[in-house]
Amino acid sequence: MDIRNIAIIAHVDHGKTTLVDAMLRQSGTFRENQQVEERVMDRNDLEKERGITILAKPTSVIWDDIKINIIDTPGHADFGGEVERILSMVDGVVLLVDAAEGPLPQTKFVLSKALKLGIRPIVLVNKIDRSDARPDEVINEIFDLFCTLDASEEQLDFPILYASGRSGWAVNELNDERIDLKPLFNKIVAHVPAPKVDREAPFSMLVTLLHSDKFLGRILTGKVYSGTAKSNQSVKSLDLNGKVVEQFRLTKLQGYRGTEMVPIEEAIAGDIVAVAGMQDSTVSNTICDTVINEPVKSTPIDPPTMSVVIMVNNSPFAGTEGTKVTSNLIKDRLLKEAETNVAITVKQSGEGAFEVGGRGELQLGVLVETMRREGFELMISKPRVIFKEENGQKLEPIEEVVIDVDLEHSNGVIAELNRRKGDMLEMREGTDGRVRIIYNIPARCLIGYQNQFLTDTRGTGLMNRLFARYEPFKGEFVGRQSGVLISNESGTATAYSLYALQERGIMFIGDTTKVYEGMIVGENSKDNDLVVNVVRAKQLTNIRSAGADEKLTLIPPRQMTMESMMSYIQDDEYVEVTPKSLRLRKKYLTENERKRYGNK
Ligand code: GDP
Repeated sequence: MDIRNIAIIAHVDHGKTTLVDAMLRQSGTFRENQQVEERVMDRNDLEKERGITILAKPTSVIWDDIKINIIDTPGHADFGGEVERILSMVDGVVLLVDAAEGPLPQTKFVLSKALKLGIRPIVLVNKIDRSDARPDEVINEIFDLFCTLDASEEQLDFPILYASGRSGWAVNELNDERIDLKPLFNKIVAHVPAPKVDREAPFSMLVTLLHSDKFLGRILTGKVYSGTAKSNQSVKSLDLNGKVVEQFRLTKLQGYRGTEMVPIEEAIAGDIVAVAGMQDSTVSNTICDTVINEPVKSTPIDPPTMSVVIMVNNSPFAGTEGTKVTSNLIKDRLLKEAETNVAITVKQSGEGAFEVGGRGELQLGVLVETMRREGFELMISKPRVIFKEENGQKLEPIEEVVIDVDLEHSNGVIAELNRRKGDMLEMREGTDGRVRIIYNIPARCLIGYQNQFLTDTRGTGLMNRLFARYEPFKGEFVGRQSGVLISNESGTATAYSLYALQERGIMFIGDTTKVYEGMIVGENSKDNDLVVNVVRAKQLTNIRSAGADEKLTLIPPRQMTMESMMSYIQDDEYVEVTPKSLRLRKKYLTENERKRYGNK
């Protein structure tokens, strides 16, 4: 069977899911209601809030006896290296753009990677049915975007389709009759080359994606680069250096059909298939015939560059807000995550404490936030970057940061990146009034920057980070300079006491917040920590003003997201996470303990 492998690049909400659904229906690919729901659920709240795409599984449609495998691409990447691996599976991309909104900067990063790989995109202007559609302008914007990203002549000569995924049609020219998606299918088949593979050679496939399935467990997905695999065949997997990871039988060979996975008897070169039942094989491994010793070339998995310690919550309120609080539950959950998330590593680092490695605060934050929503209570330590030692030299992870901001914000951003020990690699003004800035910067100096970046650019800036390499340590960098305000009592915060403390710094809590001794309730305006009383009530003798508390005007407390809390804390502080609350606390809760153990 002929095969085409494509990726869809689209901004969230531009209609990718709806279009793929229509493609499935019109190609007669059977799908059940249950799967519709599953897809909808794939795209959880976290995704929307943080503007990241948690990847959907591949979808496959058959058109005119040609199998079209459709791969999802991440919209945003703390998940850097994934993009290249995913794009290496495909020979074409459809850039899907809302006809009213036009191309948005979030898709730039993935698009630029696709263009660099030499892929010639098909542009699909979607939602033409919108009354505010402006297809001609949008095409011009896309053209400019391609130019900014150094597209070749060939790539600039992109084919265009106009479509309404929801109404289920696509056309080559705006005044063509709007019937169905046939023009889109035809364009994909004609424009996207068939996979370049050797069907006669022994079997090899490169693992690109990892997910887990209720029934099958860990599932490895990838493209077959050569030959044909038969169900039950003996195979081995090789790591990037050609070392054998394990040997096994292909007992659970799966193909994609629609949005489902189905058992298949054989996997042919060029197709994208899935294999289950392995223990140790993972992304970037080659699964192959036992006669093969050379792995397929691939980008290695980015190493974890940052770690946090996740531990059992031992705060005074522990167990009152969550349902999953024990060390065993936390351990099992983390290990399960590490099994199916290539970017996460876990090792026990003490009684009820686990060191979790990942690729940045965003990613670690997504994991903790997910656990929190599952009912977990836990505490997290300050994130640390993972250093390496080579020939007696201390090395640290350097990231390549690609930033996309409005011109007016660029100077501020550059000043801050310089302060954070970054080296500018490139700066370029686009025709859209945005500036693209590329920096190399130590990962540790980026801790806490995401939040500041959003504030500095009024939420309009985009930042993509990618591990670049290890380099010699670039010298100390001072992060937080201010001390904190620490509660010296347990109880309920009163407006009366908060009011009196306002001039000392910025409060993190409002009145009626329950606090405990050792909890951090605000930021001191000086650089030392200060113990304060936030639960003091007004003297009872002062009867006339009982109830006058409400009239005190409190400055609204500073709201912090979990990621910003993680990057805010120091070594002797924790973030306490429960399904209901996020709190900051000192590691040692009483002043006595802090004096005794502190600064050691
Ligand atoms: P995705 O986030 O890119 O997967 O987008 P969805 O497919 O979930 O669609 C996002 C929103 O756009 C939904 O409210 C859809 O109903 C709407 N939508 C999708 N396709 C079209 C279209 O062709 N025309 C119009 N007007 N709306 C559409």
